Amino acid sequence: MNQKNKQRCEYSFITDAMLGDLAKWLRLLGFDTLYFSSISDAKLTQKMRETKRILLTSDKQLHNSIKEKNNVIFVPVKLSTSEKLKVVFSRLGITKECLNSLIGTRCVYCNKKLTRVSSIEEARILISKYNIKEIPHDFYQVEDFWFCPNCKKLYWKGRMWKRIEETIKQIFIQEVNGNGF
Ligand SMILES: [Zn+2]
Repeated sequence: MNQKNKQRCEYSFITDAMLGDLAKWLRLLGFDTLYFSSISDAKLTQKMRETKRILLTSDKQLHNSIKEKNNVIFVPVKLSTSEKLKVVFSRLGITKECLNSLIGTRCVYCNKKLTRVSSIEEARILISKYNIKEIPHDFYQVEDFWFCPNCKKLYWKGRMWKRIEETIKQIFIQEVNGNGF
């Protein structure tokens, strides 16, 4: 990946309470994303400025009230999740290559960066140390594991991964066909 693409990937977001699905997917795709299920507009705006994040909002009034137009994106709540992602990616010029470098790097529950588990032995140690219940059925077939040091959760390439790859494909197929917004 060249330097330009690398820079393009480094976005962090904060979403309004209506865009929980988008926040979850941005984390799944590896983006640093803050989400609060209940937060006032004033607090949201304050956090956006303090943490220098891009605000994603489905509230036209809130969108219009933000002076820093480069740091706010209006995302209609009625869109499907992949359409919402497409709105954000088109606006920021986020590419498929960029996404491929980010997937699986962030915890969907707490937004912390995941650490790579170096071996199956290390995965076994983590499972017993933290009494982790959620493990893959085909444990010994899994090649790559990641771990959230905050939630003590184990991640691996499983069913969810297929959904992620399909969603990415969907987003960029739409783009090729020119079904823009
Ligand atoms: Zn976590």
